[in-house]
Amino acid sequence: MLLMIPGPIEVAPTVLEAAAGAPASHVSPAFIEHFGSVLERMRTVWGAGPDAQPMVVAGGGTLAMEIAVTNVTDAGDRVLVVNTGYFGDRIADMFERRGAIVDHVRVEPGKAPTTAQVESALNSRRYKVMAVTHVDTSTGVRTDAEALAKLARAHNVLSIFDGVCATAGERFEMEAWGADVYLTASQKAIGLPPGLALLMMSARAVARRAELTQAPPMTLDLLQWKPIFDAYEQRKGSYFSTPATTLIKALDVGLGEIVNDGMDTVFARHQRVADAMRAAWKSMGLTLLADEGLAANTLSAIRYPEGVGPELTKAIKERGVIVAGGLHPDLKTEYFRVGHMGYSARRPDHLLSTVRAVAEGLVACGHNVDVEAAVKVAAAAL
Ligand code: PMP
Repeated sequence: MLLMIPGPIEVAPTVLEAAAGAPASHVSPAFIEHFGSVLERMRTVWGAGPDAQPMVVAGGGTLAMEIAVTNVTDAGDRVLVVNTGYFGDRIADMFERRGAIVDHVRVEPGKAPTTAQVESALNSRRYKVMAVTHVDTSTGVRTDAEALAKLARAHNVLSIFDGVCATAGERFEMEAWGADVYLTASQKAIGLPPGLALLMMSARAVARRAELTQAPPMTLDLLQWKPIFDAYEQRKGSYFSTPATTLIKALDVGLGEIVNDGMDTVFARHQRVADAMRAAWKSMGLTLLADEGLAANTLSAIRYPEGVGPELTKAIKERGVIVAGGLHPDLKTEYFRVGHMGYSARRPDHLLSTVRAVAEGLVACGHNVDVEAAVKVAAAAL
């Protein structure tokens, strides 16, 4: 069975191997080296400068969002959420729980606010923080992170980008674009099992945390963790709360493979793979939820064709491939989602098996598709 949902995803054998065996002590020399190396490699993958602070905390993407929110906002702060779907609503809820006042720039599912819309919102009020979902996993829409990060910087607003479905799959240059927090989790394009919240905080974000009147909960607090990460980067053991030693050892291997390929190669691979998958969907007469030009490279959110419904995902599974149903509450039963990131983006066999299973599933659901032609279209573009 192939796991082709937008996270968790298939994991490279090298990473699985690194995650096997007895757990290491968090102060063993080998583990200290892995953790220090992880923190250094994150800067390369994130496009972050030497003064940015990497964070690795056991948890998921939602925890990473909560770390971001609680470390840069106080009660009463005004926050702008560039809302492209499900995860924009989630981070808005977190800001409100923190006591912040939230405004949204909202669009219909499948669309993204234009830079001009966001600029006009930023001009209308004095915001402290702006939050953007880099790729919204509920709609398959990618926002223009570069333009939005630069816009926030120009307005002296701290920017948070949720990269859970993007980091290491979509280009992001944290330092060059002036972004302040870029957060993700281990189970998507980073290529690990679920279990780690991963963030990078700019020096501005670290300074904001120091100025807050309301400290974040202890386990989310950047200032609590910073001396620990600093120690590991200097290859010294330290302790605040036991790190996920097994996953961090595996993360060193996973990030090492990404860094060795080089970020340009990794981003170009995801672009090529997404183009190939989109060409295959088109050849089957399928359309994406995302507007032309907004479709992410890490996943496809695909509308069911006329006369076909959620039974398609079951038919695809019967052919050995697991894809995901819809997630956006407004149109949950109208589309399905296929992940094409991380390790599977390096495996043409995974991608072509997925195209075949979708095409055969459509045929089984009574939709007329030329299976061999669809596979050929994808193979030619990979
Ligand atoms: N943000 C985005 C864009 C996501 O896709 C997800 C997970 N699908 C999350 C946040 C939350 O991550 P987790 O499920 O690991 O808490």
